[in-house]
Amino acid sequence: MIFLDNASTTPMSKSAIENLVKYSTENFFNPSAIYGAGYQNFKDIESTKKLLCQKLFVPFKNNIIFTGSATEATNLAILGSFKPSFKKMVFSVGEHPSVYNTALSLKSKGVNVEFVNLQKNGEVDYVELEKMLDSSVNFISIMQVSNETGAINDIAKICQLKKQYCPNAILHCDGVQAFGKIETNLAKLDLDFYTISAHKLHGPKGLGALYAKNPNKLQPIIFGGGQEYNLRSGTENLASIMAFKTALEEIDIQKNFEKICALNKTFKANLIAKTNSKITLKFVENQNLSPYILSVSIPKIKGETLVYMCDSKGLLVSTGSACSAKKSGNRILENLGYDKTLIEGNIRVSFSNFSTLEDIENGSKILANCINELFEKTT
Ligand code: PLP
Repeated sequence: MIFLDNASTTPMSKSAIENLVKYSTENFFNPSAIYGAGYQNFKDIESTKKLLCQKLFVPFKNNIIFTGSATEATNLAILGSFKPSFKKMVFSVGEHPSVYNTALSLKSKGVNVEFVNLQKNGEVDYVELEKMLDSSVNFISIMQVSNETGAINDIAKICQLKKQYCPNAILHCDGVQAFGKIETNLAKLDLDFYTISAHKLHGPKGLGALYAKNPNKLQPIIFGGGQEYNLRSGTENLASIMAFKTALEEIDIQKNFEKICALNKTFKANLIAKTNSKITLKFVENQNLSPYILSVSIPKIKGETLVYMCDSKGLLVSTGSACSAKKSGNRILENLGYDKTLIEGNIRVSFSNFSTLEDIENGSKILANCINELFEKTT
């Protein structure tokens, strides 16, 4: 089986699994317990937070809050900093449902929520954003890398626009598809919140983290025993946090980036070469895409049918994002100006540093063969 759906999730690394087991068995103690073994686990959790801060280039100041998923982390950033006095909140149309649907929920309650459109290259429309920003804006949430197209937003530019037009606004960035893959220096970015997910980086599912420049700006959205600086109650997911630490230690962003760039390039070139020349494959046109995600549309072919066919031949890819795969339409591709057949014919191939050249060679062959076979049937 060839797994090229790594933007939806990744397999855990062997040493992460070892730590998961270790902290579920011999080191299972509750990190809130006041006896030594419990306190040691509390300190071990803190060591993961310190490592996260190191990878983000910021000092550790009780500024990492572990949550039950990145979805929960984005909800905490948005709902935990929301105030009824907010005059305007700005989100991009391209956000992951964990952000987009939270914004819609606030909008349905009467909050003034505005959505900035995307450019054809998948990035936020910075000109439109600039027009939207003024001193009435209290909150902005714009993702770093699109989980659908791989487009990388210019977060430094967004920080600069915020500083110019609404310096007091809170700025959240969903870094789920970027962290650990694309060098991100939070010391150089004036972000209030940054969201991370462990299972996209060979860590366990069910673990998110929110970096908060100033945790005092947050209110909890889950109440209980006061863990995570009173911002996310519930016994800490110790084993997953420690498994994530190991997964993080194994990441070499630069080395992986170069490898994935080469794999992506080979996959794309093979696909183009092996696909029937009567078919025009549509890729996102942008020089600044994350190499971890390759979005391609095949006109007149249903992405869903293609995914099932690839599955039957041993290749796992997805239609758009896994979270929205079951829903019809695609707000993001629509916003990019894709027509109905390009939206329906869209699939996403995504890589991880566990992907091999063999996966790429064989995977691109299977995909091209399936496309050609479906094309023959439709013409
Ligand atoms: N944000 C982005 C950009 C994502 O791709 C995902 C997951 O696909 C999430 C948030 C949600 O992450 P989690 O599965 O940890 O809730």
